[in-house]
Amino acid sequence: MSDAYRWIGKSLQTIHRANWYRSVQSIDSYGGPTVTINGRSLINLASNDYLGLAADPRLVTQVKTAVERYGTGSTGSLLLSGHRPLHRELEQAIAQLKGTEDAIVFSSGYLANLGTITALVNSRDLILSDEYNHSSLRNGAALSGAKTITYAHGDLRDLSAKLAAARAAYRRCLILTDGVFGMDGDVCDLPQLLGLGDRFEAMVMIDEAHSVGVLGRTGAGCAEFFGCQDRPLVQMGTLSKALASLGGYVAGSAELVDFLRNRAASWIYTTGLSLADSAAALGAISLLIQEPERLSQLRQNVQYLIERIDHLLSSKATLLQTKSLNLRRLPSDSAIVCLQVKDATTVLSLAKHLREQGIFAAAVRPPTVPVSRLRLSLMATHTSAHIDQFIYTLSSYLKSV
Ligand SMILES: *Cc1c(COP(=O)(O)O)cnc(C)c1O
Repeated sequence: MSDAYRWIGKSLQTIHRANWYRSVQSIDSYGGPTVTINGRSLINLASNDYLGLAADPRLVTQVKTAVERYGTGSTGSLLLSGHRPLHRELEQAIAQLKGTEDAIVFSSGYLANLGTITALVNSRDLILSDEYNHSSLRNGAALSGAKTITYAHGDLRDLSAKLAAARAAYRRCLILTDGVFGMDGDVCDLPQLLGLGDRFEAMVMIDEAHSVGVLGRTGAGCAEFFGCQDRPLVQMGTLSKALASLGGYVAGSAELVDFLRNRAASWIYTTGLSLADSAAALGAISLLIQEPERLSQLRQNVQYLIERIDHLLSSKATLLQTKSLNLRRLPSDSAIVCLQVKDATTVLSLAKHLREQGIFAAAVRPPTVPVSRLRLSLMATHTSAHIDQFIYTLSSYLKSV
């Protein structure tokens, strides 16, 4: 028998030994503010469905109508036979929400990043990438063949120094950043990034997976949040989080979008987004606009959670435990709030305690992040009772260690 595959088992053992092993967690219900897992109901602090739209009956009806009309699959790539009027309607709705000339829809956010980055730059070019950027941005950069330099997270001085040192040796330059960093919850400094883009003749591409439907007055994302809608910018985002569907997009100038339709391999050589997903995303964008109270409720929930965590972490009763676990709330500008702890063992024991007490939250560990943390994501449909229950359970954990 061949030994060619023996390394896989060994590699798995190493993953287990480091406490890095992960497996799927199946949920038997809609991933709403509460979920059912193995017959038990849990408060769900691990969903990306920030606006609570993924089971909205109105979206379900629109999806049924689309499937009845167009069938289950889009049956081809978009430039051949996969395109339907619904795809164009969705692109126009995204462009309108974002205030851009046009938008292009990919079959996932991951594919949007791979296709866009590889279309914009190649081996003659330079990429500057935030060290905490999402896997899809980092893999897009690698696949493009451009020289990629990583800058320290959110460190504009480091970025500026690296641009000054390297920019002149390359043809085009692309600065890549998450809008909201998914494993931290903080927002990038878009105005400063655009300023550096101007100074060094660099394109700026922002990944709004966790900011579209969350940041900005109407939920249009980072550019709206910072008042930068009129600046040239490559705005990528996903339909799979606040927009309750599947798929990714790039919004920007008509020229940029037209160029991507001709050059983005992950758009050209893949099957068009299903009509069910297209209808769901289109419906979610309408609801985001028609029901702005969802956005304000989400923000109130985040504010309330942050206040309660800070109050608990500064209370005398748990000060010693907070210190010994290095427990710290990371800064957040989004629907994601993280509690950093000293190591992987601690975060696993905390998540286990929460789980036993009816709360589902993600323990995020290296290599996904440099320091282990409990990651909490909020939804517009959480109630203050859900948040109170989480705080009560966190407090009982602290008292038990
Ligand atoms: C989720 C996510 C993606 C991938 O989007 P999908 O549509 O799920 O493929 C890309 N970038 C970031 C920052 C994400 O959080």
